[in-house]
Amino acid sequence: MNKYEFHDIRVAVTRGKGEPFQLEAARLRAPQGDEVLVRIIASGLCHTDLIIRDQYYPVPLPAVLGHEGAGVVEAIGPQVSSLAVGDHVVLTYGHCGHCLPCSAGRTSYCTDFYAHNFGGTDQHGNCAIVDAKGEFLHDHFFAQSSFATLALSRERNAIKVPKTAPLELLGPLGCGIQTGAGAVINSLKVTPGSRFLALGAGAVGLSAVLAAKLAGAATIIAVDRVPSRLQLALEIGASHALDSGDPEWVETVREVTGGGVDFALESTGRPAILAQGVSALAPLGVLGVVGASPQGTQARFDLNDLMIAGKSIRGICEGDSVPRKFIPELVELHMQGRFPFDRLVKFYPFDAINQAAADSEAGVTLKPILLMDGQTSIRT
Ligand code: NAD
Repeated sequence: MNKYEFHDIRVAVTRGKGEPFQLEAARLRAPQGDEVLVRIIASGLCHTDLIIRDQYYPVPLPAVLGHEGAGVVEAIGPQVSSLAVGDHVVLTYGHCGHCLPCSAGRTSYCTDFYAHNFGGTDQHGNCAIVDAKGEFLHDHFFAQSSFATLALSRERNAIKVPKTAPLELLGPLGCGIQTGAGAVINSLKVTPGSRFLALGAGAVGLSAVLAAKLAGAATIIAVDRVPSRLQLALEIGASHALDSGDPEWVETVREVTGGGVDFALESTGRPAILAQGVSALAPLGVLGVVGASPQGTQARFDLNDLMIAGKSIRGICEGDSVPRKFIPELVELHMQGRFPFDRLVKFYPFDAINQAAADSEAGVTLKPILLMDGQTSIRT
């Protein structure tokens, strides 16, 4: 370990299952090979960070989580050729770059996706962050661990964005926002005039609503149990917003669509909502699943309804996004005013990470973004 140069950093550490994030001083080693050292300006906090804190998936602890980082390139490893010090980047998921799905450009289905994003180490099984006691912390979460003032990513998952774009806002494009928007645009390929249903109106679901509007869907229905989220859905483009607590909501979907929806996206992670979503599909309708559930979760739905009506269900990871192409496209759409995902976010100082997590879980805040400089707002 002494052969590397180390940088002093501040991190939010998850030390035990379900425990609050702890803000600590730590050290991060300098970039090697194709690695990029990024000064994190801001990091989104995604529901996935919280389910890992709660150990839905067994990511080894203690760990530095965070996977929606945006920042400035501070240093590069000797093999990096497409990025330079000072570039603005959005960090996204990791992938191996050489398995069959990666070779086909389907990098979010990398056969080693779990190891690259949830493994807790780099590709060689090593950690790069040491705490104040000199103990290694698991890191490389989504090939970044962005709940930190500096993070190491690899060249292939650091996406260059224009310096004219508001960098503090862009981190969530690396996961939650690209997942919702990508599911609609890349995976489901929602068509003009079609009927779309967002099951869950959180950050992913409302990104899907924004994208469905962009894609020209005629009927856009959002379902959730938080009234403020349903209200926001209506403000940003949904034509209807339904409370899942209403036992008749699937019937209402059928009524307002004249028989069901063509496309649906499940982001609640609740098997019962998924089953209701299948039932709300029109003949030949497609339902995409992005919501994460505890490992081993199973869903039940009527097989004959699926078969006779020619319905489909498919899993979707990271919105089938090719980040190097899709993230700059979303930035451009945002700058043109056509993809106003800033409506979903609220800024918090890094030190308030536990408040941000609590507000997210209480349904008060849709997409928290942590500002590493301690501010509570940005100039846009
Ligand atoms: P979120 O917490 O902001 O949104 C989830 C929404 O579901 C909330 O608005 C919540 O009120 C709603 N909900 C929960 N139970 C419900 C119920 N019974 N009825 C109606 N609504 C209900 O989270 P998010 O950031 O939008 O992420 C959504 C899910 O997607 C999470 O599980 C996250 O881990 C997952 N995710 C998956 C991918 C992927 O690539 N597949 C990427 C990012 C996030």
